[in-house]
Amino acid sequence: PEPTPVHPELWPAAKSPGLLDAKTEARITRIMARMSLREKIGQMIQADTASIKPEDLRQYPLGSILAGGNSPPIGAPDRSPASAWIATVRAFDTVAMGKRAGHEPIPIMFGIDAVHGNSNVVGATIFPHNSALGAMHDPALMRRIGRATAVETAAAGIHWAFGPTLAVPQDDRWGRAYEGYSEDPALVAAYAGPMVEGLQGKPGSRTTVQAGHVAASVKHFVGDGGTRDGIDQGDTQVDENTLIHTHGAGYPKAVDAGTMTVMASFSSWNGVKMHGNKALLTDVLKGRMGFDGFIVGDWNGHGQIPGCTNTDCPATFNAGLDMAMAPDSWKGLFESTLAAAQSGKIPMARIDDAVRRILRVKIKLGLFDPARPNEARPQEIGSPEHRAIARQAVRESLVLLKNEGVLPIKTSATVLVAGDAADDIGRQSGGWTLSWQGDGNTNADFPGATSIYAGISEAMKAGGGKAVLSTDGTFAEKPDVAVVVFGEEPYAELRGDVRTLEFQLGDKKALALLKKLKAAGIPTVSVFLSGRPLWVNPEINQSDAFVAAWFPGSEGAGVADVLVGGNADFHGTLSFSWPKTAAQFTLNKGQPDYDPLFPLGYGLTYANGGHVDRLGEEPGIDAADANSSLFIVDGIVARPFALETGEAVSRRLVGSPTRQEGAIQLAWSGAGTASILGPNLTLEREANAEMNVEITYRLDKAAGGPVTLALGSGPVRIGEALGQPGEWRKLRIPLKCFANHG
Ligand code: BGC
Repeated sequence: PEPTPVHPELWPAAKSPGLLDAKTEARITRIMARMSLREKIGQMIQADTASIKPEDLRQYPLGSILAGGNSPPIGAPDRSPASAWIATVRAFDTVAMGKRAGHEPIPIMFGIDAVHGNSNVVGATIFPHNSALGAMHDPALMRRIGRATAVETAAAGIHWAFGPTLAVPQDDRWGRAYEGYSEDPALVAAYAGPMVEGLQGKPGSRTTVQAGHVAASVKHFVGDGGTRDGIDQGDTQVDENTLIHTHGAGYPKAVDAGTMTVMASFSSWNGVKMHGNKALLTDVLKGRMGFDGFIVGDWNGHGQIPGCTNTDCPATFNAGLDMAMAPDSWKGLFESTLAAAQSGKIPMARIDDAVRRILRVKIKLGLFDPARPNEARPQEIGSPEHRAIARQAVRESLVLLKNEGVLPIKTSATVLVAGDAADDIGRQSGGWTLSWQGDGNTNADFPGATSIYAGISEAMKAGGGKAVLSTDGTFAEKPDVAVVVFGEEPYAELRGDVRTLEFQLGDKKALALLKKLKAAGIPTVSVFLSGRPLWVNPEINQSDAFVAAWFPGSEGAGVADVLVGGNADFHGTLSFSWPKTAAQFTLNKGQPDYDPLFPLGYGLTYANGGHVDRLGEEPGIDAADANSSLFIVDGIVARPFALETGEAVSRRLVGSPTRQEGAIQLAWSGAGTASILGPNLTLEREANAEMNVEITYRLDKAAGGPVTLALGSGPVRIGEALGQPGEWRKLRIPLKCFANHG
């Protein structure tokens, strides 16, 4: 498709002085005068720790390293303490700083997904995910959360947090809805500045890593929360006005707050990939908004541009990207970009502009000043002060949806704490926690943290009551009240995409437990952990009180603070509209036919009642809805692909240690040829082919896991394999392959 015309003058203009100052610019000029082209190109490319060794920087002078999602520190296991991260960053930086090239050595910039605290480090404070923080409606607390996150990130030696996400999710089926603060652009805009300033410090102050700050990366520019059918990395089909005022609402505020970096979105706008959209990246963001930091790409996002591959993409730099995130493709991309610069495919002025922006940020961030006192303060990671901030955030973000007089719980009571997430800090924390998907964590991985059960148990001591843990709700003595903690399992990105908002499609465990407690005459409080509003009418009907607790993170005690004793009241109100049916995917305030169960801004307190009439229990959507974007075939939830060449999406599933556990055997029939590559199937397919892929699989160890399909530029997750280890299953996946773009 032709790019939709852009009118920069319609976008909000820059207000801030930006990052420019004459002294820094002169220093950059001096450095750049002596940099070789190789060195310049190196600054524009970022590799992932899983695919590069510090020694590689001798030959390839890359400017930045990331540890994305699943990548552990070098030579260390997943779930490592700060010391391992400090050592990793140092190992890269030592090589970079050891260069003698006729100019001062250029330090590397190390980035990580510190998206709810520096949740990559064992023992860190894990803040509630963003959808929870939206419910607080508290920009001042956001600033403190940003500051604490920066301190814990810098204390692990890391310079750069890939956040905050400024998505304005409009379809709750999107697997990243929880990374957004709200469906309401005004709230996202109100949070953007405080969060950036919390991470970086106020513009003009000492916004350096030495002062415990890190660079922010507002993401994903722009339109990530608006994709059709809520498909991750999909196409946002809206007019420019909606792009500006809904999806773009946070960016002017972030730029005014001095954000040092912006991450481009995987998504497309009206069919054109954001990584290649020059009008938006260059004319709007850098021009109209006056952004003078640098634009970083998302994980091989450049490779999704038509005509590009992960290892070759002049178009992205010409569109305005300054640094490509080329996790495993860095070597190829380095060589091809160097050649493109030599041949003039990328103008030298563009290269110089990109390098200048990157060096500007590195200087402003203090990376050229070697002393890093914060690294000597590992005690700041998971400090009592930071945990207190997180606990306050938990208290403020809980939303009370129903209360038939059962809350608050008296401290003299006997409380049964039930539900499969009752004593599970991993479940509380969700995705992007110690691993990309946040799965496989145990309470032992969270030293210093508190589960919801532990929090309640502690709170009962004040009045001599007690909490009894039984996840399946069996009880020896009849409790006065039960708290049932259940909800979504952790997920990140594509894996979280769903086709209906019905909670626990096909698995009614929590509902059965609630029914059992009701039958026994026990008043029941549901604490629902989820990244987004879901259709839970049956569960609400079975509960005497219902609390939306989102993904609260490491401080389960914050839940107990509000539920028990009555000292703290509820404060949170919905920043996402709550659906009346499972088919209200795109329920957003302001729509003409807006008909939610609980509207945006809804939230009860102890003072203001809480009766909810019995709710309808028809989900309003057929499980086999032909219109859905996912469907279920013999235990596998599969997406009927409308894949375009070069649009192949996710990647990290291959080679990730957790994913390889389920050795999946694949066989297939259909047009084209197939080869079996470990757990992945490679299809060489013809354009416009429609095919049915038959897969026979057996899960060896793990019960369940994603199935990936390698197509074109990278493996794509096509579904979720269910079933018990050892059991053989079959599925058929209809695939449709379109011709190349254009
Ligand atoms: C995500 C980004 C993230 C990056 C690095 C991508 O898949 O879209 O939000 O910052 O990976 O891990």
